[in-house]
Amino acid sequence: MTLNKESICVQGGWQPKNGEARVLPIYQSTTFKYETSEEMGKLFDLEEEGYFYSRLQNPTCDMVAQKICDLEGGAAAMLTSSGQAATLLAVTNICEAGSHVICAAKVYGGTSNLLSVTLKRFGIETSLVDQDLPAEELEKYFKPNTRAVFAETISNPAGVILDIEKFVKLAHDHGVPMICDNTFATPINCQPFKYGVDIITHSTTKYMDGHAMAVGGAIVDSGNFDWDAHADKFPGLTTPDESYHGVVYTKKFGKKAYITKATAQLMRDMGACQSPQNAFLTNIGLETLHLRVERHCQNAQKVAEFLANHPKVAWVEYAGLKDDKYHALAEKYMPNGTCGVLCFGPKGGRDGAMQFTNALKMIAIVTHVADARSCVLHPASHTHRQLNDQQLIEAGVLPDLIRLSVGIENIDDIIADLDQALNAVQA
Ligand SMILES: *Cc1c(COP(=O)(O)O)cnc(C)c1O
Repeated sequence: MTLNKESICVQGGWQPKNGEARVLPIYQSTTFKYETSEEMGKLFDLEEEGYFYSRLQNPTCDMVAQKICDLEGGAAAMLTSSGQAATLLAVTNICEAGSHVICAAKVYGGTSNLLSVTLKRFGIETSLVDQDLPAEELEKYFKPNTRAVFAETISNPAGVILDIEKFVKLAHDHGVPMICDNTFATPINCQPFKYGVDIITHSTTKYMDGHAMAVGGAIVDSGNFDWDAHADKFPGLTTPDESYHGVVYTKKFGKKAYITKATAQLMRDMGACQSPQNAFLTNIGLETLHLRVERHCQNAQKVAEFLANHPKVAWVEYAGLKDDKYHALAEKYMPNGTCGVLCFGPKGGRDGAMQFTNALKMIAIVTHVADARSCVLHPASHTHRQLNDQQLIEAGVLPDLIRLSVGIENIDDIIADLDQALNAVQA
């Protein structure tokens, strides 16, 4: 029976057999027992599927990965220790020293740092591109050694909506996969595989957990990219892996080749695995993802409309607003809503923003987004506080920018708190 995504949130993943626990068990075990050496040996040769050590695979983590896989409509998935680890493994599974990546410039700061600073030290070059450029302009960034294109379906924090089909076509015209970080939209609001995206990454730390309890990540593969058709570009998938007795991933694992390689080789060697405890907590979050995302979007829409009409507000950016630059793309790719995060500037510049955040009562100042509790961050006072106003503008972070993550409290209370704090701004 194929289920709709609301039912997958509740029922997906763990399927207990007769007499087994109704709720996903936590397999709090590093190791797994076998009767004979031969049986264990077959697992090491990738001849048979099974568990032997939780750095590579653990049943609790696999059940949660399966739920996320089904929500995205993928062929295979894996959990990682964090969203950062998901990006790291998704890219390095197909890139090596000498490879080039094209990445949207307005991605999460951790992602652009990973690609353009840390992976650069390992010989992987990244071009950060303006994702709103027309295809003819973006075309110019491709090189013979380009191996992947990376972007967020909704960018954190700017809320830029990706023209997914434009990017998919460019990537496929150049024989490389399109990787999308779908953290903010979640599979509830956007299904990137429907538009031809090949691989999806998540920081499950955000809406999927939704309660700010567990750092985690996930990678989902559509199984649709034809690695063998571009075999010269992806030898790691299409030629023998000597560290596994010469297995050729695409030949042996078909649509599961990419995730099997990332698990068997990269997880083995880099060890960025998720703990079964955190997977269990993430699964509790996933059971209500569909309900929470819907309410986050309803509340954020009302907040955006309230802010747009408030005399103490200079500007608001939220793709749900009819006159927003990204409204049309949001309507196309996320017709049921985008996410609960929006950006705005109170009047009075940097000082006005500080007066506003200091006057909030219920809404807390925290370095986090996308959980049930409403929260704000003022980058000029917090994450980017070493920069002066001029440097902030150059970094694309306005001195007055407030990132507001709208929670699922009563909308009247959220608006009342915002209103009284805005009225405290001396501008
Ligand atoms: C938070 C975030 C990440 C990083 O995830 P962690 O779980 O914090 O490592 C990656 N991408 C996006 C869009 C994020 O919001």
